[in-house]
Amino acid sequence: MRLTRYFLPVLKENPAEAAIASHRLMLRAGMIRQVSAGIYAWLPLGYRVLRRLEEIIHEEQQRAGHIPMLMPTLQPAELWRESGRYDAYGPEMLRIRDRHERDMLYGPTNEELITDIFRKNVSSYKDLPLTLYHIQWKFRDEIRPRFGVMRGREFLMKDGYNFDIDRDSAIHAYNRHMVSYIRTYERMGLKAFPMRADTGPIGGDHSHEFLVLAETGESEVFYDAAILDLKLGDRAIDYDDRAAVEGIVREWTTPYARTDETHDPARFEAEVPAERRRRSRAIEVGQIFYFGTKYSEPMKAHVLNEKGERVPVHMGSHGIGVSRLVGAIIEASHDERGIVWPEGVTPFHAGIVNLKQGDAATDAAAEEIYAALRARGLDPLYDDRDERAGAKFATMDLIGLPWRITIGPRGLARGKVELTERRTGESEELSPAAAVDRIAQIYAGTG
Ligand code: ATP
Ligand code: MG
Repeated sequence: MRLTRYFLPVLKENPAEAAIASHRLMLRAGMIRQVSAGIYAWLPLGYRVLRRLEEIIHEEQQRAGHIPMLMPTLQPAELWRESGRYDAYGPEMLRIRDRHERDMLYGPTNEELITDIFRKNVSSYKDLPLTLYHIQWKFRDEIRPRFGVMRGREFLMKDGYNFDIDRDSAIHAYNRHMVSYIRTYERMGLKAFPMRADTGPIGGDHSHEFLVLAETGESEVFYDAAILDLKLGDRAIDYDDRAAVEGIVREWTTPYARTDETHDPARFEAEVPAERRRRSRAIEVGQIFYFGTKYSEPMKAHVLNEKGERVPVHMGSHGIGVSRLVGAIIEASHDERGIVWPEGVTPFHAGIVNLKQGDAATDAAAEEIYAALRARGLDPLYDDRDERAGAKFATMDLIGLPWRITIGPRGLARGKVELTERRTGESEELSPAAAVDRIAQIYAGTG
């Protein structure tokens, strides 16, 4: 993309309404604009990141054997009356009436809708196990929308639902979700830890929230510092191998890590040596939940089991806060000059800065590098504006592309350009071809 043909409305001043870094930087970098309280338009740069997160989520969900689909945002109230949640949900639910006076709602989540689809189309254990998911906008009329996309009213969520014949099979689905989520967040360059969470009235120990440690987080967590060393990396995972998947889950859930709702101070002290006990603020970026037959019983989602008996299916639901993640990644990765995108999620792979736009030699070299990066399947952002170097650098730093190639007449005279890493600020002089090679190598493993 050439910046002169793009839409990147960056702001020089800090917007007064933004209380935390990610909100401030998303506004300043021209990623989002508020439309109404807790409702945002995603401008091109923000939209690129959002799409990239969706891509990673799709890849990892499908790797785990989960099937993508798409349900609508609007749902009929009658389904929620069946589950008993229409009244229970309260004022967070946006209720709408259509022209025929039918009660509708803008979905805050989709358990009822997916259970209805399931019961109308599946009747035998032979069609199980089944895990369906989608990535769709949700609406929750939050009492206090704040921090930009972190706590919006309209927000993008990946939500998946597993249907299994019995508890064991459903726990395997739960475990698959935990492992696929760990990998998803790692690919996004994030450290997000599963922590034991509240299961509410259903009870049991099968809910985990995924938390990113951050001062500005709205959750409070208690954990063993040992979790900080956990890494999945690119080890091969066979998602059909129950024992192997369970082994990874055990690795991640053995060290103490809990949200404040499930925190048990006596146990914390007994299990974790004092020097490893940590208490922190954190951002919830996902949650997984096994809830058995909570919806399948009242909504009569039954299947015939091997013995020919009609039994309610065992279900779980599993969510990732896609739009919140954009903010969470920035909270975890920025400095005083702007965003620092992890390579896995960056909106553009590299920035190209031409220090002397209009100079035949620098223009030609910049064009050549731009074309060479694209030929390697990469997406560079070429700042081809007729602007001062300082302004170009400030924009690149603000929008946070991990790598920048700077082209100026002096370096070119020696056959060199400058390759700069956003995170460290370190620069290196290379030939244009070597700079392109280096960037291609860096991204070779990021999918
Ligand atoms: P919270 O406790 O933050 O209100 P929740 O537990 O009600 O969230 P879930 O139902 O678990 O949310 O939804 C799955 C994920 O969707 C959450 O882990 C979170 O990342 C994201 N999410 C929930 N509410 C919002 C919101 N208002 N704005 C942005 N993302 C949200
Ligand atoms: Mg939650």
